[in-house]
Amino acid sequence: MIIQLKNNIDSDQKKAIIKKVNSFKYEANEVKTQKATYLIGIGTKEFDIRQIGNMPGIADIHIVSDSYKLVSRKWKVKPTIIDLGDGVTIGEGSLAMMAGPCSIEGEEQIVETIEHLKANGIKIMRGGVYKPRSSPYAFRGMGIEGLQLWYKHAKAAGLKIVTEVMQVSQIEPMLEYVDIFQVGARNTQNFNLLDALGEIDKAVMIKRGISGTIDELLYSAEYVFSGGNEKLILCERGIRTYEKASRNTLDLNAIPILKEKTHFPVVSDPSHGIGIRRHVEAMALASIMAGADGIIYETHSNPSKAFSDGQQTLDFRESEQLCNKMRATYELLASF
Ligand code: PEP
Ligand code: MN
Repeated sequence: MIIQLKNNIDSDQKKAIIKKVNSFKYEANEVKTQKATYLIGIGTKEFDIRQIGNMPGIADIHIVSDSYKLVSRKWKVKPTIIDLGDGVTIGEGSLAMMAGPCSIEGEEQIVETIEHLKANGIKIMRGGVYKPRSSPYAFRGMGIEGLQLWYKHAKAAGLKIVTEVMQVSQIEPMLEYVDIFQVGARNTQNFNLLDALGEIDKAVMIKRGISGTIDELLYSAEYVFSGGNEKLILCERGIRTYEKASRNTLDLNAIPILKEKTHFPVVSDPSHGIGIRRHVEAMALASIMAGADGIIYETHSNPSKAFSDGQQTLDFRESEQLCNKMRATYELLASF
């Protein structure tokens, strides 16, 4: 059960509501976000919500049978659109394209990538400055200086930044420069990180864990929301299966399932999803057909020289072609 409280509720009214909720053997968890205050009722007994619904101080009340609540579409039927400002949105009604290198490598690479993105109408640039690498000896990112340099150029070009945050202590220094905090597949269940991201007023994109289920991804999103942040995006990026012919198995099934289960935008990462450059396009277009609200992919002026993930990174010619095909695919889908 989700009860949205009126902004002007007084403490006696709130106490009375909690007492009533408890009388049905439901626990009432208070969630305060930047937008509103909610009571999340956790319990199993069936009862008629009209017994609570007309109490003073209640703006809205819903029974949500899913065990995740605030991210559930059973509560919010209408899709939530994430507004990044300056006319850039992610969610129903448009296709969000996010592209850039796996890792931010230096000024020249930042500038040439921005030029490429601008020429192709892409408004959100991806790139890692903190890189989770399987080997500790691999390139681990330029850190905050890399982000500051990137921000300087991105801001001048009017581009938004999506980048991975790996630990709680990085959030504060990154805050000013980041539009979307990416939670990487290795951190999907880092609950301390999710709690901390609940406290900020910036969008958070949570990637599905390497061996994570769809429900686990939804619970991770519930963590951020219940921590206070309602600006969420979910990302399918492939899961580990027994298949060795591709880096991961992009779970296209997850896209319509997630779209049905949550009101938040669902995007797909075909680069990590398949891990093979020449097949990224096919998986991007398939993701759009499956209902993805956006695509995040890796591109670099010279993938063979990329510091990380070159094998799955498109060069600018391939990236341009992909952009054109993604737009055409999205329009085709909209025309059905
Ligand atoms: C990335 O986006 O470069 C990345 C490391 O992603 P993931 O967490 O999905 O592996
Ligand atoms: Mn990568």
